[in-house]
Order: sequence, then structure tokens, then C-alpha cells
Amino acid sequence: MERAEQMATNGESEADLRTEVVVVGGGLAGLSMACTLAAAGVPTVCVDRDSPATQTAGGFDLRTTALALCAQKVLEGAGAWAYMAGDAQPILDIRVVDQGSPLFVHYDHREVGNEPMGWVLDNLVIRRALFRRAAELPALTHLAPVRVSGLERTPAGATVRLADGRAIRARLVIGADGRPSLCRQSAGIAWNRQAYGQTAIICNIGHEFPHHGLAVEHFTPHGPFAVLPLTENRCSIVWSERDALAPLYMKLPDALFVAELQKRVGEFLGEIRLIGGRAAYPLWIMLADRLTDTRLALIGEAAHAIHPIAGQGLNLGMRDIAALAEVVVDQFRLGLDPGSPDTLARYHRWRWFDTMMLSATCDSLVHLFSTDLPPLRLARNLGLGAVNRMPGLKRFFMRHAMGMVGHLPRLVRGEPL
Ligand SMILES: Cc1cc2nc3c(=O)[nH]c(=O)nc-3n(C[C@H](O)[C@H](O)[C@H](O)COP(=O)(O)OP(=O)(O)OC[C@H]3O[C@@H](n4cnc5c(N)ncnc54)[C@H](O)[C@@H]3O)c2cc1C
Repeated sequence: MERAEQMATNGESEADLRTEVVVVGGGLAGLSMACTLAAAGVPTVCVDRDSPATQTAGGFDLRTTALALCAQKVLEGAGAWAYMAGDAQPILDIRVVDQGSPLFVHYDHREVGNEPMGWVLDNLVIRRALFRRAAELPALTHLAPVRVSGLERTPAGATVRLADGRAIRARLVIGADGRPSLCRQSAGIAWNRQAYGQTAIICNIGHEFPHHGLAVEHFTPHGPFAVLPLTENRCSIVWSERDALAPLYMKLPDALFVAELQKRVGEFLGEIRLIGGRAAYPLWIMLADRLTDTRLALIGEAAHAIHPIAGQGLNLGMRDIAALAEVVVDQFRLGLDPGSPDTLARYHRWRWFDTMMLSATCDSLVHLFSTDLPPLRLARNLGLGAVNRMPGLKRFFMRHAMGMVGHLPRLVRGEPL
């Protein structure tokens, strides 16, 4: 069975499909997952309600993503990295500054090896590369645009119902359908959610001086303000602002908006200008109570959403993909059931601790740095100063941010699946 097979027998409707795995949601996480499985020969159907043309239209997603080394390895394993590498800006240095304090931490990629600490790409570039890769994989059927309207799961198998009346039979459903996840809700998996009272304003800028691959993050009491290097002498801005103020900044005419940006960016890039539009994202943390249910595994934002303070949301999702792909492919190659309770339990055990730890760490950072209380301010400044003077501790943080710690899946180690 290469691509999903049409089922015209056994009393099933002619429109029905049968496959090993259905990935619900073909966003950044879902399509990466589907490409990874299909590249390893697992027959996979990926369904998204938006067509590739919609997802790559100007204005659909103006964000950029800082991909850590672990995520780059996953995309390489999926065969998609080659299609985006030319537009990926390496991050060579990171400077973390607490606004109003002379103390900072400077991370230099050479302290942990020759690889960059990560790459920044326009989400549009990642999406295009994934669509291109998906189209060339014989084991992948990409259905878009069509909405998934329901799921039926029993120990014997799963059926995914599409809004156009078709049904897909599979042994495993992967929920990659984002925060409001139909998959998570239909399985009755509870989730905890808390708003930060902050909104991320994002946009890209052009600038006078080169960025030299430097990413800068300023912590302010209103939220973190990040400047991430992009190709073509551009930078991406992720400006977390209090909910009450963000709409006012969003409405400013371009000239005034750029003046506000320039105040926050400072002088290291010289004069800046806006490239393209801006967009706003309300920020909250969300964690599902568990990652699996009968014949269902959750990945990406269907399972966890975090503050972009450390640029780790999709990186966490990429580690889900690496672990889930490994357990599924191992079963499939042995002729065993990739949706069995044992397989799913292995995935949950592998990913739960990392998911909890990273979510909790990012959450603590947001609370620690988004405050002006003098004792906390003193504590974090002492912390920043200390980390900067302790190379061992610095290397520890850098390896964590690169996603290269813990029990690493084969893909993250750079090995074939
Ligand atoms: C401002 C900001 C900056 C960020 N920066 C970074 C960063 O630098 N680094 C990083 O690692 N992460 C970052 N993130 C996080 C990252 O953007 C997200 O983790 C990622 O986009 C989530 O992708 P996803 O595929 O899990 O979910 P989504 O992007 O929500 O995709 C879900 C998909 O499912 C589809 N879908 C939903 N329901 C259905 C249905 N019923 N039927 C069919 N299709 C359906 C949707 O159409 C969509 O395509 C940032 C986030 C924000 C808000």
C-alpha cells in the first residue's frame, strides 16, 4: 500500500480511503509529521482545512520561526530541509538583556561547537518547502482543503470523517490540529490554559547595518522584545506587549510604529524600516492532560502551546515528531500495529517529561522577567550576571535551547529512522 488506497470493497463507500496513519492538521507540525512518516515508507494521509495556496498567500502567516538544531535535524530527516536551507539565517550569537540593567548574557555558538545555535526562517518558507516535499512522497496523500468533521476510535481501528462526506480508515490518528484541536476534544482529553495578559506583535524590518547573525532579546516589564536575524539583511520582531496596549500599537500609522520599534531595537542595526505588514497573537500557555488516547496521539499545539519567550513552541513539536515517528516506524517495519496501546504508551512516556519541563521553564521565565518588583529584578540581574561568567552553565543552557539533551530520538541524533 503506497498512497492511501481507495476502498471499493467490503461494503465501504467508494469514496472511502484506507491508510496506516491519518494526520489531522497540515500546519507546520502536522505536515512535518506526515512527511517524516511517508519518507520512511509509512502510508500516511494528511488532512487540512486550508489549501496550500491559502496557507502560502501573503498575510496568512507573517511570523518567522527560530528553529533549533533538533528541529533542523527532524526536517532534514523528513527530506524538507534542503528546500528551505537557502532561506535559513543561522543564529551565531544570542544576547539576553534585562532592560535598564547593564548586565546581560552573551551566547556564542562556538562555545558548543561549529553548528549555529539555530536558524530563523519565514514561516512562509517552511510551509512552501513542506508542500514541495509532500508532493514528491509516494506514501503521502495530502488532502487540502477539506475539514475533518469527526473521529471514531475503537481498539480495532480509527475512522476519520471529512466534511465532504468521505471517511478514512487508519490504525493511528495523529492530532496536529492546533490549539482548539478537535482530536483532543473528541477524545475528552482535558487541558489547562492560562492567559499571560500579553499579546505578541510581530513584523519584519530592514536595516542599515548588518546583523551578523546576532539575535537579541530584551526583557521588559511589559514582556520580552526579540530581534531575530533573517536573510537578506532583515530581522524579525517579536514584541510581547500588555494586552491593553497592543491594539493601540497595532493601530499606529507606519511611521509612528517604526519610531516605537526603533526605540526598543536601539542603534545596533542603524536606521530601520518596516517590511510588509504586522500581526498580533494573544499569548497563553496550554497543556493537555495526556498525549494519547485509543488510537490517537497528539503533537504540536494540539498538545501544548507556550509563550514565544524562548522561541521553543515548534521546536517542542518537532521533538514530538521525532519521538512519535520513531515508535511508529519501528512497529510498522516489524509488521506490528503502529496504533497499539504499547506504542502510544511509549510515545507518551518519552515526551511527557520534556513537555512539562519546557512549558514550566518558559512559564517561569515569563513571570520572572515580566515584573518590575525590586527583589525579583535584583535576583534576575544577579542570575544573568552569574550565567554570563560561568561557561559550564552557559553551555548547559545552550544545549537545552538547541534541544540536544535527554534521550534523543534517532532523527535528532542525525541518524536515519
Ligand atoms: C508570535 C509567535 C512566535 C513564535 N515563534 C516561534 C519560534 O521562534 N520558534 C518556535 O519553535 N516556535 C515559535 N512559535 C510557536 C509556533 O508558531 C507554533 O508552535 C506552531 O505554529 C504550531 O504549529 P501546529 O502545526 O502545531 O499548529 P497550527 O499552526 O495551529 O496548525 C494546525 C493546523 O490544523 C488545521 N486544522 C485544525 N482543525 C482542523 C480540522 N478540523 N480539519 C482539518 N484541518 C484542521 C489548521 O488549518 C492548521 O493548518 C511562535 C508562536 C507565536 C504565536
